[in-house]
Amino acid sequence: MDDLLKGLLYFLFFILGVIIFSFVNMIIYKLPEKKVFAKEKSACRACGHELAFKDLIPVISWICLKGKCRYCGAKISVRDLVVELLGGAFAVGLTAYYGIGLKALTIFLFFAMLTIVTCIDMDTMEIPFVLNVIILVLGIISIWTVGGVSILERIIGLFCISLPLFLIVLVIPEGFGGGDIKLMFAAGMFLGWKATVVAFLIGLLLGGGYGVVCLIRRKHGKKDHFAFGPFLSVGLAIAVFCGTQLMDMYLEFLKMSFTV
Ligand SMILES: [Zn+2]
Repeated sequence: MDDLLKGLLYFLFFILGVIIFSFVNMIIYKLPEKKVFAKEKSACRACGHELAFKDLIPVISWICLKGKCRYCGAKISVRDLVVELLGGAFAVGLTAYYGIGLKALTIFLFFAMLTIVTCIDMDTMEIPFVLNVIILVLGIISIWTVGGVSILERIIGLFCISLPLFLIVLVIPEGFGGGDIKLMFAAGMFLGWKATVVAFLIGLLLGGGYGVVCLIRRKHGKKDHFAFGPFLSVGLAIAVFCGTQLMDMYLEFLKMSFTV
């Protein structure tokens, strides 16, 4: 019976995560157009036809319509579906891992922001300033709700990556985007310096790998740029779980190699 209740509870969390991330999808499309607070009915982005309730049910509508607009047949991005399912997965995964509480909720909201950053950066090559402000605010809230990292470590976290990146950009203006730098500043408050460094290294590895693949396939010319925010976001999400521990292990390893 207990297991049944637990299963039901997780199912409800999944639905809740999916619903919240269908709003995340809405923000992803409306924020770059500065229309988040505009009171307009949802419409197909291809034909402009107003969407009915049956077209707007997260996940289910997409699957029933096979990813196409009911009115004009235009493709609805698979990413829309993936984002919604990701929301469900985050909600279930985080409550299973951290238990039901403010800690899981804060990290869930952090992941929601990273998802928005990832998709908008993919679409527009820019990270809206307001998202980094919200991440910074979440970082301050996380002092109480998540804990585990001292305030000093968080303050160092603000600058440990963002400052070197800022200096690099002074020399090589096209190295990193201003949005990337502000993202690493804001996330540093959330994670503390140890996990922020690990997050950046993961992002660099993933982004570098992607860049090499693109070069080989010649998908991008030498002067073309690709959005770096998605790779940083993945790094930041992974670092939530193991960033501080990995850095501690590394520091321990350094200490041992110096004392031997
Ligand atoms: Zn349409």
